[in-house]
Amino acid sequence: MRHFYRIQVIWNKQADIKYRNGKPAGRQRINMSGWKKQRWLLGMLGLLCCLAALYGRTQKIETDGKAEVQVLNREDTETAHPENMEEGERETKKIALTFDDGPHPVYTEQMLEVLEEAQVPATFFLLGQNIEGHEELVKEIAEKGHLIGNHTFHHVQITGLPKEKACEEIEETSQLIEELTGKGTEYVRPPFGTWNEGLESSLDLIPVMWTIDTLDWTTQNVDSIVEHVVKNVGENDIILMHDSYKSTVQATERIISLLKAEGFEFVTVDEVLFD
Ligand SMILES: [Zn+2]
Repeated sequence: MRHFYRIQVIWNKQADIKYRNGKPAGRQRINMSGWKKQRWLLGMLGLLCCLAALYGRTQKIETDGKAEVQVLNREDTETAHPENMEEGERETKKIALTFDDGPHPVYTEQMLEVLEEAQVPATFFLLGQNIEGHEELVKEIAEKGHLIGNHTFHHVQITGLPKEKACEEIEETSQLIEELTGKGTEYVRPPFGTWNEGLESSLDLIPVMWTIDTLDWTTQNVDSIVEHVVKNVGENDIILMHDSYKSTVQATERIISLLKAEGFEFVTVDEVLFD
């Protein structure tokens, strides 16, 4: 910049000389020689400027390139958000839907259709007294990949029975399930949520309670069932419902849709308990 300023000054001085003397030939010859030198210098300077500019530009591209890589890396980190991740990479919030008191001649079938449509597994705690006459439903539950548990034969309160009778309630139901599905039950949901721990060693079954009670059997109101679950649900919750009501079938369909959108993964109850 300083050089350029000096040459400008020299140029102005010569222009002034040319203007004042009024003898263009001689002056011009002398001045032409100087002017050529300056023009050459100007040319060289221009070339240097161009090279400098080109070098600067290259450096800038390189720097920008690095900056771009860094930005991309930061964006990569940001894509770790569950919504932006691939299915396999996503950290899921597991949740288990459980249905008691079935199989129901009408609504169990409808529930199976809802679950199949949504590709969601669930756990069904069956009553021995409801299995009789609906054996095909029990087979269908198992064939569709759902987990089957024991809910006693007559929906009795286990703690109110002598040990022998309590065992009978559970064992008869387990036997029926095994005959139909080829697989014994490992889980029991005690009706009314009362369990006699002394039975565990005799029966070799794992009692499964719940963390969210939808009270679907009292309200039979789709909106209140859905709202109760969606408001209270969290990771590893076990939701208690009954596949004996149309309202529960409809509520289940909505619950699955809403919670899937929030990133929940529906699993059978064993996955919540032991994984
Ligand atoms: Zn029940």
